[in-house]
Amino acid sequence: MISNTIDDIKNFLSENSIKPSIQRVKIYQFLLNNKIHPTADEIYKRLNSELITLSKTTVYNTLHLFVDKGVVQPIHIEGNEVRYDADFSQHTHFKCNDCGMLYDLHLNLNIQGILELKKFEVKDIQVLISGICDKCVSGNPIN
Ligand SMILES: [Zn+2]
Ligand SMILES: [Zn+2]
Repeated sequence: MISNTIDDIKNFLSENSIKPSIQRVKIYQFLLNNKIHPTADEIYKRLNSELITLSKTTVYNTLHLFVDKGVVQPIHIEGNEVRYDADFSQHTHFKCNDCGMLYDLHLNLNIQGILELKKFEVKDIQVLISGICDKCVSGNPIN
């Protein structure tokens, strides 16, 4: 993981052949600082007061560029909802069906033990576990 300072993010984006405009840097910083796996809409809503020239199209285009360059991973949940994660450490997710929050799970999957996978070459693992989170169980949702 890279640090969340503007300078480090600028360098990191440049190293990945992304021109580090202030909007791109701020979007990346938002993803590093808020591990809530936001959708493009959520990122736009949270940043548009600070970056008044930001448009929804810029957010969408920036996220597509980040995915293209491999600095952000898209998480596909049910339907066509896409969320974004700047955390590339091996992890999976728990989705709360009540508040919709996506939590990181550091689950060590032993895929060597899965017989059906022996013939395949695994490139990516996405596991989604869903249920009700502790905050919703206690009747105190975060949203
Ligand atoms: Zn919840
Ligand atoms: Zn995650």
